[in-house]
Amino acid sequence: MNNNSLFNNSRFKLAITYAGVMGTTLLICGYIAHIVMVKAFTRTLDRELEVLGKVFEDKLKTQLKTPGILPLNIRKSFPEICFEKQSCVKIKSESAVMSLLLQSHYVRLLNSKGEAIAAINHHPNEFTDNIKLHHSYDIRNRNGELYHLHLMPLKINNNQLWGYLQVGRSIQRLNDYMNSLHLLLLLGIPTAMIIIGGGGWWLAGLAMLPIKKSYQKLEQFTADAAHELRTPITSLQTIVETNSINQETQKALERQIKRLVTLTQDLLLLSRLESGLQEVKIQRICLNDLVADVEEELLPLAMNAEVLLFSHVPDQAYFYIQGNESQIYRMLLNLVSNAIKYTPVGGEVKINLTTNDNQGTITIKDTGIGIPAADIPHIFDRFYRVNADRSRNTGGSGLGLAIALAIVQTHKGKLEVESSINHGSTFTVILPLVSKVNR
Ligand code: ADP
Repeated sequence: MNNNSLFNNSRFKLAITYAGVMGTTLLICGYIAHIVMVKAFTRTLDRELEVLGKVFEDKLKTQLKTPGILPLNIRKSFPEICFEKQSCVKIKSESAVMSLLLQSHYVRLLNSKGEAIAAINHHPNEFTDNIKLHHSYDIRNRNGELYHLHLMPLKINNNQLWGYLQVGRSIQRLNDYMNSLHLLLLLGIPTAMIIIGGGGWWLAGLAMLPIKKSYQKLEQFTADAAHELRTPITSLQTIVETNSINQETQKALERQIKRLVTLTQDLLLLSRLESGLQEVKIQRICLNDLVADVEEELLPLAMNAEVLLFSHVPDQAYFYIQGNESQIYRMLLNLVSNAIKYTPVGGEVKINLTTNDNQGTITIKDTGIGIPAADIPHIFDRFYRVNADRSRNTGGSGLGLAIALAIVQTHKGKLEVESSINHGSTFTVILPLVSKVNR
């Protein structure tokens, strides 16, 4: 992944997190506002229905004698009353207050079993559902209008239960308001999230600008340093090769120049890999051949170090990845040469290729000195060397693993390490496969 996409990735993550946090906050606030509004309204409504119920209760109490039975002369005090099993003719109440109340409210009488006996200016079975003996609940009438009903026990002489008085009021309008609020939240929150996400993207860009600039400067410095170093080193090399200096000094100078050349080449490669600016040739690479070639190239080094180097690749098929062959070769070369370098005489290094449906895995396992657990998180950093003393005689500069990791990442793969001190290390490279050809 090059730095531009790395920055864009972080910027995108920041914007998404920002929008997510704000969206969740809005959703929670909306939900709490909804609960509080419904609770407040239901309480006020219950209180209002209770007061209305009390008015009817007082009026009824003097006339009710036997539980569940309405006196025959009830029409005298309630001319608007409608009975069960009778058709209900709506009468305009004589009292203006009563007629106003009955327009928006519903009052009915239930016996102690909860069966409707009568209602005032409405039919007792105005609602399709069964009657519930609940303190208060919501229900739709036959026209689909939503009502809130409130239940009160009706007591007569000596505290005997006559039945119940159920008082209700249409809450259709509140319900419509609530539905509009839900719609508003449903459309408003995603819109707000999009706006916040856009704002977050812009803000994150603004905040990351100085970091991006200094990172680019650092990268530019590495690239420039490598470029600038190349010219004097080349001239130095020419001078050493063409002038007569005593043999020992010449050898020492050549060795140092060789190190400098490798170092500058490595730095240049690393900066090109990380900037993602370098155009490289992409081709199909056979992993089986790659392992064999690296093994062949490093066999003399292993023999010299008296380390047994061998490999195992599946023989039923050839496995291919897509990428830059010289980079992949270089990555493997770094890992295997490290394994040889850090394995004492008599030890062994094994390169193993395994595959599954879409991944090729190359493990480089050695029986060498291992890496202390505390150093493992840092070994892929530039110039990091575990205990400089132990690495000095290996001639390493601490760039090998940083290069290997950058190459694996450019190829959308993974590089992992497991190590145990004095027992050895295993480096695992996982790369996406593009094809498989049976032998
Ligand atoms: P160097 O050029 O010093 O080898 P690298 O970047 O290749 O630099 O490796 C970084 C450090 O990781 C090395 O200094 C070495 O101590 C440690 N290391 C790498 N590979 C191995 C290995 N197979 N066994 C033990 N230590 C290793």
